[in-house]
Order: sequence, then structure tokens, then C-alpha cells
Amino acid sequence: MIEFLHTPLSKTNFLTYQQASLLEAEWRIETVEDFLLTQPHRYEDRTQFATVEQLMADYTKKDAQMIGKIIAMQTVGVGKYKKRLVAQFVQGNMQIELIWFSAVTQVQNIINRYIHQPIVIYGKVERFRNQITISHPRIEIYTKTRHDEFLKIDAIYPSSAKLKKMKITDTLLRRTVSQIIQKIRPQFTQDTLPQQTRDELKLYTYLQAIYALHFPKTMAQAKQALRRLKFEELFYAQLSSAVRRYDHDQNSQGLPVLDDMEKTSNFTKNHIPFTLTGAQRRVLADIHGDLISTKQMNRLIQGDVGSGKTMVAFIAQLMVIDSGYQTAIIAPTEILATQHFINFSQYANKIGLRIELLKGSRTKKQKEEIAQQLHQGEIDIIVGTHALLEDYVQFKKLGMVVIDEQHRFGVEQREKLWRKSPVLPPHVLIMTATPIPRTLTMAMYGDLDVSIIDELPPGRKPIETRHMYSEQMGAVYNFLDQEIKKGRQAYMVYPLIEESEALDLKHVQQGFEDLERNLPQYQIAMLHGRMKNSEKDEIMNAFKEKKYHILVSTTVIEVGVDVPNASVMVIEEANRFGLSQLHQIRGRVGRGGNQSYCLLLTDHKLSAESKVRIKAMVDSQDGFYLAEVDLKLRGAGNVEGVQQSGNAAYKISNISTDLPILQEANRRVNLLLESDPLLREPQHLCLHDKLKQLTPKAKRWSKIG
Ligand code: ADP
Ligand code: MG
Repeated sequence: MIEFLHTPLSKTNFLTYQQASLLEAEWRIETVEDFLLTQPHRYEDRTQFATVEQLMADYTKKDAQMIGKIIAMQTVGVGKYKKRLVAQFVQGNMQIELIWFSAVTQVQNIINRYIHQPIVIYGKVERFRNQITISHPRIEIYTKTRHDEFLKIDAIYPSSAKLKKMKITDTLLRRTVSQIIQKIRPQFTQDTLPQQTRDELKLYTYLQAIYALHFPKTMAQAKQALRRLKFEELFYAQLSSAVRRYDHDQNSQGLPVLDDMEKTSNFTKNHIPFTLTGAQRRVLADIHGDLISTKQMNRLIQGDVGSGKTMVAFIAQLMVIDSGYQTAIIAPTEILATQHFINFSQYANKIGLRIELLKGSRTKKQKEEIAQQLHQGEIDIIVGTHALLEDYVQFKKLGMVVIDEQHRFGVEQREKLWRKSPVLPPHVLIMTATPIPRTLTMAMYGDLDVSIIDELPPGRKPIETRHMYSEQMGAVYNFLDQEIKKGRQAYMVYPLIEESEALDLKHVQQGFEDLERNLPQYQIAMLHGRMKNSEKDEIMNAFKEKKYHILVSTTVIEVGVDVPNASVMVIEEANRFGLSQLHQIRGRVGRGGNQSYCLLLTDHKLSAESKVRIKAMVDSQDGFYLAEVDLKLRGAGNVEGVQQSGNAAYKISNISTDLPILQEANRRVNLLLESDPLLREPQHLCLHDKLKQLTPKAKRWSKIG
């Protein structure tokens, strides 16, 4: 790879320092390569000369380039906003009008120079009655010898008032690109993708692609250029995570775990109140394999709501506790931490393990006491929130960290945890209930090993899901009444209206009041985004303790909150929710032994997309299936988590819209690593440079390269 491409643009002399610095700021770019990879924001297709006759016949055509002459001009109207310049442009015996609404004097001067001479104009064609006009056309002098030069496609770049002021025009930008390409061309002795891949996928070389991105001869070329550059970016991103993972597998020594697991087998044989599902057993085998491999585990478990992740996490912890370690479970909220504590305690008590809960709301003294016990190794399992990250929390021998709902956990926070294990970082198990389509997993979680629990425990009663219309509220109230009479509880959820918190509140408030009026005999609570966390927790807890029959809320009910007695979920304005969100919300019910229900309320007027979503919800409860439907429906951009974590890393691709390219890149990386895992074959040597550059910190690559 050419070093030069990684030079900051402002350190080169293609542009003035001021111009380059401004571009860096305005385009948010740094290097020469970033500059080359900046996509023109549109193209002007000037590959043909049009005639007035053609335009009369087919005026749907938007932009046109024409040869002709201006034979006259005059200003029309007076005053700043009315004055305009109209010029007569003739071609043979046909004539059209050119109009300028601004910069009239400057244009007059130009036309005065060009009048009666052959010129080329380019602009957007409009037809009014039988008159064709072009507003603000570009004008250039035409000469026969330069005829072909006019036939081209011009790249038009993102601009701004500041850029214009600094004279950074499209012409200047194109010239700069061209100069850079000339400079790097001789140094580009090998392409950045293997020949075979390029041949099979019919991809341009890097240089061809850069050139065609800025100077395409046809629009198809511009498209091909983009395809190649996006493929390259996605391919390398995935290859580099795969390599990092491989490197990690080879080199990251883990805390030693013995295969002799007494408590684990005692517990699994004698204390599990049910039979593990096949999926649970498979995932446990993955974890077991990791732990005894002498490498550090970094595994993500994806499993739909209710798939039994808790038990898997508990057994995984036993496996390290058997080797004398402690474990920690971190949940995103106090409510979830408490819930985990209650669940895990049931299991831990059966085999005499010591478990504690550390949360922010405990007194300083209590916290210090727990910390003390942890430090002395008197606690086997600690459950907590972010409070666990604080410095005073020290372990005697931390062996595993379980993180629930990792998308709320930053990298820095993880690092803090690592440091709590004195010698080697602890094994890490991340659990998420957000199913992600398989195709996206690698792009998003390339650094982690992934296990999927794709099977629900047997005997689960499917949640009966119905689509109802808002005018059927009477029926909804009746239904709620029936269920509550049976001793159940219900949720009623409103969408978060992002534009307006006030509107949000109004909706929930309204729903709350309507409920109180229609079901006055019941206790109803309200929960919304403007409440303090402590208030929310209080209400949630009271709901859990059955002090309320119905909980009305915006989507703030925490993912993972478990109230098994709740059997009805009413989702208001269900069309405003994404599919995965609907699925998550529905997952709040159906957690106990009772038949549960989900009512999706909408108006009659629904977009085609909403209809598909609602139908999918009514038809299926498989989170992975629903995630795939969502992906097809709205692209990856709307799959939860993709926007934040998925796209940030990419310069030219967007995994939300470039899914087919992502999939192809994915497939190619897998094939490549299958056939040549160390990338040692001569045709793959070209990959090393770029990989090295993508992982500057992970120098260990050289060890396996
Ligand atoms: P989640 O994956 O959403 O965290 P949980 O671990 O909370 O799911 O499990 C949901 C419920 O299913 C719990 O009550 C749990 O005890 C029960 N469960 C878990 N595994 C099984 C199984 N193999 N058979 C029957 N019930 C199970
Ligand atoms: Mg859970």
C-alpha cells in the first residue's frame, strides 16, 4: 500500500494549505485516500448533445447539453426579486430561452463576450406550453476541435458556502483528483484485492475504481467503481476482524480452567428443574470448549427472549467457579441486576455458593462490606450494575464476567473490568436478546465468537397475537377486565415520539386517563421517559408485587423485566414501532404458565410496510425470522444496533444499504480463510499490507503472517 495515501491532505501540495484544511473540516476527512474515496454527490451526464427537436419531443428529459448561439438578451422586470435576464438561444431555426434570476450583471458581461459565437450550454430543461427554457445554464465556448471534450460525465462534489468562498470548485476538485491519481499510478504495482477475487466478481482494480468514481465515461462505470470500493472496504473490515480473532485465539492466553468440573456436573445432574434444550446444551458445549482451551473466551450469546440464557450463564459461571474463581454479572439497570440476583440466588443456594448483589443504591458501608468480602474471596458470584466497575471493587480471583445486554456497554467500561483480574483478563460472556440476522453478525460482532440459542424451552404457550383497530377500544377494555379478573396483569405501551417529549407524555397520559375512566375498579400505574430512574424502579417493583393491575408506559419498560404474572400486552400505534421492537415488547408477556396475549392496535390506514410488519408479528414469534423480515423490509439500517455500532467504521459503504455487497464480502472472507487461513499463498500476500494498516496496534499479525 502506498504510504502517500495516508498523508493528511493538508500536508500535500495539490491544494493550498487553507483549501486543504477547509476540505478536511468540511468533508470530515483526513488523508489523501479519504479524499479520493469521497463520493461525488451527483454526476452531470453530458455524454450527448441534445437538439431542440429532441427536447420538444421528449421533455421528460431533465438535464441537457446543447450547441447553439445566443442571439439576443434582455432584462425583464424591475426590483431585486423580479428582475431577470432572458436570452434567446438558437439552434438552426429552433429557439429556446435561457433565464437567470440572479447574478444578472455578471452573466450579461459573459454573454456580451460570447454573443453570436458557438457555445455549449448545460442545464435543467423545463417546458412551459411550447416554450423550452433552461434556468442558469452553464456556458462554455464551443470549438470543433474540442468537440469530444464536451462529451463527458462531470462529478459534482458536496459543497458549502465556505468551500465556495475558498474557490473550491468542482473543476478544482476534479483536477486535484486527477493529479493525485497521476502521482500514485506508477507506485501501484499490485492491487489491493487478489486477482482471482477481482476476476470472479468482475471488480475493477483500485486505480480503475478511483478513476471511474471521479471520471466515469458512463454512469454504469460510476456504479462499478462504487461497487469495487465498497466491496474492498467491507471485505477488509471483515477480514481484519477475522484475523484479529484468529490472532486472539492463537495468542491470548486465558485464565486456566480445569476440565474437572465437580460443582457443574453436580448442579446439572441434580438441581436443574427442567431438561436443557438442545440449543442450551450446544451453547454450553461452545463455552466449555473455550474455557478449557487455555485461551481467553470472548463469546456472545444471542438468544431470543425466554430462550433460557440465564441458566446457560449460570452453568458457564459454575465451570470457572469449579477452578476456584469468582464471577461477576453486570446488568444495565438496578432492576435487571436485582432480578438476576433473585434468579441466580435460587440456583446458587442449591449448591451452597455465596452470591451477593451490589448496587448503587446501597449504603456506602454495605458496599464496602461487600467489596471487602469480594476481595477476600468470600463471595463466589457478584451481581451488580455499573457500580461493579468502580475502583474500590476488587476481586481475589475474578475468572468470568457475564455482561447482559451488551449494547449498553462501552469498550472503556469493559477495559475497566479487565483490570480487575490481576494476571490475565477474565473470560467474557455477553448475552443479548436482540436477534441479529446472521448476515449482519459478522459485520457487527466480528471480534466475538457467537453462539445462538435458537430454540425455546418446550411447552411454551405461544403468545396469541391479534391485530385490532383503535375503534375497538371497548373490546380491549373488556378483554383487560376479563384477564385481570383471572388474577393477571397487563401492560399498555405507547410509542416514544422522538420529535416531541410533550406529545409523548400527552399520549400516555391520555391512555392512562381513558383506562381509569373505563376500568375504575383497577389500580393503574403510569411510567414515562421523564421520570427519574428511582421513580421508574419504584413503579416497576410495585407492579411486580401486584400492587397495580395495569401499567401504562412509553417504551421505557426495560428490556428483560420479568413479571410472569403479566399476560396481556396492548401496543398502541403498533405501526410506529419497528419489528424487532415490537417483538421485544411482546416478549414482556408469556413468561409465566398462563396463556398470554398481545394486541396490536392501529388505525385502518396503514402503509404497505406496516401491514407486512403487523402480519409478521401475528404469524411468528421467532425473533430471528422477524429480524430477517425487518432486514428485507427496511434494510439493515433499522435493525437494532446497526446504526450505532455498524456504520461508524465505514467510509464509503453503508451496511444498511449495501447488504448484497456485505454478504458477498462475507462469503469471500470465509472462503479465503477456509482455503488459506494464514494467508500465506503467494496470491494472498497482497492482503497483508492493507491488513497491517487496518490494525496498526495489533502488531502480532506479523507472527502469523
Ligand atoms: P432469557 O433468555 O430471556 O433470559 P430466561 O433465562 O429468563 O430467558 O428463561 C425464561 C424462563 O424459562 C425461565 O423461567 C427459566 O427458568 C425457563 N427455562 C430456561 N430453560 C428452560 C428449559 N430448558 N426448559 C424449561 N424451562 C426453561
Ligand atoms: Mg434474561
